[in-house]
Amino acid sequence: MVRLPYSFLMSAVFTALIFFSGVSSEAAPPTRNPAGSSSTYIKVAGVNYVDARVFFARNGFKGAWIERGKSLRFQSATSQIDIEADKRDAVINGLRVLMGEPAVFRGSTLYVSRIDADKLFLPILRPSSVTTPPAPALRVIVIDAGHGGQDTGTQNKPFKLDEKVFALDVAMRLRTLLVKQGYKIVMTRTDDRFVPLPQRAEIANKAGADLFISIHFNAVGGSPTVRGSETYVMTPQYQRSTGSPRRDPSDNVANPGNRNDPWNTLLGYHMHDQVVGKLGSLDRGFKRARFAVLRLVNSPGVLIEAGYLSNNDEAKRISTSAYRQSLAEALAQGVRAYAVAITPVKTK
Ligand SMILES: [Zn+2]
Repeated sequence: MVRLPYSFLMSAVFTALIFFSGVSSEAAPPTRNPAGSSSTYIKVAGVNYVDARVFFARNGFKGAWIERGKSLRFQSATSQIDIEADKRDAVINGLRVLMGEPAVFRGSTLYVSRIDADKLFLPILRPSSVTTPPAPALRVIVIDAGHGGQDTGTQNKPFKLDEKVFALDVAMRLRTLLVKQGYKIVMTRTDDRFVPLPQRAEIANKAGADLFISIHFNAVGGSPTVRGSETYVMTPQYQRSTGSPRRDPSDNVANPGNRNDPWNTLLGYHMHDQVVGKLGSLDRGFKRARFAVLRLVNSPGVLIEAGYLSNNDEAKRISTSAYRQSLAEALAQGVRAYAVAITPVKTK
């Protein structure tokens, strides 16, 4: 290899980066690529973005404006995605999915963040194109009933309902269904006991879990009309969680839960799809959080908040065994859909 001075190399690398990525900051005028169109890649407030049309075209989607300069629809033979400027919401096949960063409109181009492109859209829309890490082949599934013992979880006080009771009931129903599907099931608890959060992840990791499913019910004080289901998976490294208004240095930490970023996404999407679709629950969205159990598990993991105990109508439904059986069936169906989705994927 010809030896070149370090400074020359670095300036060449820098020039190459600028040329190939078309990096521009918010303050700089938009750069143009040789074809005369806007840059494929831009940087906005420290976040790397990619032209949504270019990204989706590479993956077999055609884009068309829903409202020019504001929202775009991407369509393939099997999927449809709607994305709107300045919003973190995307709609994938009718399902509300929260991006880490809002889409942005610059020049005549709509951009999505590169982390969202690679770690949200790609695993859901083309799982077979994700080569690393390999998806764990599904054998051992750990079911985590939220709360327990002195930790009641959320409550509906007028109806005397505790989240911990329903979470365990659904977990036991799900165990029965998944055993029938042929999986080895490990529970983080099978009775009314307190299990610390790190211990739940430890149980999963010691069992060699290939999948981790945590079951919860929600509540919000002072807003009795709030209802619906939301599904959480681990926030990717370098991205803020759905509930965080801004980025934080702690976002840059690689947690064990990040080893399976693409598979967390794919799992969460299919679980959310089934819970919302089968239960007819209001779709509050597929979201990101660094909850302890999601942060610490070595396998793909998901946490489901399947309705609000603080909403009296929803609490009544949750207190029926029919609803809880439907929920368990939706979760089992979500596992089945995820298993089908990883079939063409390289597994370990
Ligand atoms: Zn809970």
